[in-house]
Amino acid sequence: MEYDKEKMEKANNLVKILEKKEIPIEITNFKEETIKELNNFYNYNINPDFKIILLDKREEFDIISGEKTKDWMIGRTIYVIGKIIIFNIDAVERETNHKKEDFYKTLKHEIAHLYFFKISSKGHPKWLNEGMGYFLAKQDYKDLPLEQAVEAIDQFNSFDGKHYPHSAKLVRLLIEKYGKEKIIELINSWYYKRDEFENNFKEIYGFKFTKEELIKNL
Ligand SMILES: [Zn+2]
Repeated sequence: MEYDKEKMEKANNLVKILEKKEIPIEITNFKEETIKELNNFYNYNINPDFKIILLDKREEFDIISGEKTKDWMIGRTIYVIGKIIIFNIDAVERETNHKKEDFYKTLKHEIAHLYFFKISSKGHPKWLNEGMGYFLAKQDYKDLPLEQAVEAIDQFNSFDGKHYPHSAKLVRLLIEKYGKEKIIELINSWYYKRDEFENNFKEIYGFKFTKEELIKNL
């Protein structure tokens, strides 16, 4: 996301207007249930404080994002202001290439990002953050061979949308094979740089964080 001062002001003003709209009770209930579920997964009452902003038009998504957004984008987490923007259920099929039913899974995916951020104080490695979103929201993805899925690990500070299935598969295998405790420890361990992350990974999982070793050990 790139903002200049003018764009930022426009975005803030629109957020102020849209956040006054009432959230339907089903969505509020879903939010509460998801918070319970994710607290339970992380074994910790994280209770992130955030607002959901429902959108009706792609233009609103673009203004708040500060850029033209892609058709597949249905929701987004804005960590700094603690808000999730997402197309309202009846706008999903009109404004995105998703099905209506994707609404709740996307919302859960976005809430999972808020947890990731709360726990780690950062949003990277991106593949891990996105993979956790898919895992916790139980989202479907195209199953790829492991040799291809490991390509996700290059997505550290930035993320290319084509790596969603790669990241989803990698995280699922790490959890299935080594348990959720290790991945929580990994998310919790502090690192800014990729080499710090690699060292922590090796300590936690007992093998080197390379594509070859991941293929061998997953
Ligand atoms: Zn995501």
